[in-house]
Parts: sequence; structure tokens; C-alpha cells
Amino acid sequence: MKVLITEYLRINLDTEMWECRRCGHEHISARENYKRGLLVYDRDPREIHKPLLDTTLYERTYSPDPQWCRILEYYCSKCGTLVEAEYLPPGHPPVHDIELDIDALKAQWVDREEVLEPVIGPDLALEKVKHGRALHAQAHGHDHQH
Ligand SMILES: [Zn+2]
Repeated sequence: MKVLITEYLRINLDTEMWECRRCGHEHISARENYKRGLLVYDRDPREIHKPLLDTTLYERTYSPDPQWCRILEYYCSKCGTLVEAEYLPPGHPPVHDIELDIDALKAQWVDREEVLEPVIGPDLALEKVKHGRALHAQAHGHDHQH
């Protein structure tokens, strides 16, 4: 049984491993921080958020100061998919943002069917427009689109 956790991560409850949803690669034990099983690219934030002002004229340029901020990108080591990115002060360890009770997760899913792709609900905005058009057409006794 595999349980979808994020857009690019799932947990295989049989092997208790984090897996890549894109390629199926096993990252690390589901009882660990998944980030420890991914490749890390420690980015200079100035590469991502380029200075908006001339750096030779101004100290503050609306670009993050690398002395105060770094951007960590986490990639699948097999397929290269960007799994997660986070902003941290330099020296701060990766945030352990998903820590699940694997035993409880197993108990929750024991009687459920596996979900291979997330269930997408209806587009309520589109349904509202269609309903409004139908009411308009009904009120005027015609069925053209306007
Ligand atoms: Zn992958």
C-alpha cells in the first residue's frame, strides 16, 4: 500500500520507505526526515531573487542577503525532480516538516483502497458559470452562449 503525501512524495507502508511519485525511487525510511534521502542544492538567494537596484550603488537591493538567508532545494537523486525548497538562515538544519506516525498511518489504511492519483473535486467556478448561463437561457427562451 502506497499513500500519497505530497505532489512528489509518497510512503510505501509495506517497506516503510519514502518514495518519489515521479519515478518510484526509494529515498529513505519513512520514519526519517525525507529530506535526508534527497539531493540538496544550497542556493545563493541572489541567484533566485536578483537585485532590483544597482549593487554598486546600494547596499539593500531587494535581494536576500546570503548572510541571513539561504535557499535549500531538494531533488530526487534518480530522476532529478525538485521535491521541495525552503528558505532558512545559514547554519539552520533542514526543517523536519512532515513527521507522520507510521503505525497509525498503517492502521488508518488497512481497510482502504490504494489511491494512485489524488482525487480532484469539481471546478465550482466553472459549474457556477454553466449554471448561470443555463438560467439565463431558460429565462430568455434561447440557448446561445453569452
Ligand atoms: Zn524520482
